[in-house]
Amino acid sequence: MPQYWTGIESTMKCPICKREVKIGDPEMPFCSERCRIIDLGNWASEKYVISTPARPDDLRAQEDDDAG
Ligand SMILES: [Zn+2]
Repeated sequence: MPQYWTGIESTMKCPICKREVKIGDPEMPFCSERCRIIDLGNWASEKYVISTPARPDDLRAQEDDDAG
């Protein structure tokens, strides 16, 4: 029995509230701007955990690979 994709779901689940999100929604993959902001907040909160000390040593020796 061949399996055809007859029922292609045009919706996906919002990663925040697990609600259905329509494919093509401007707020994808979130169901609404609210959930998008919540997700952004989760990322922002991680910044407090991952604190990388900014070093001024950003000097890199540039090597001219002039072959030819
Ligand atoms: Zn949502």
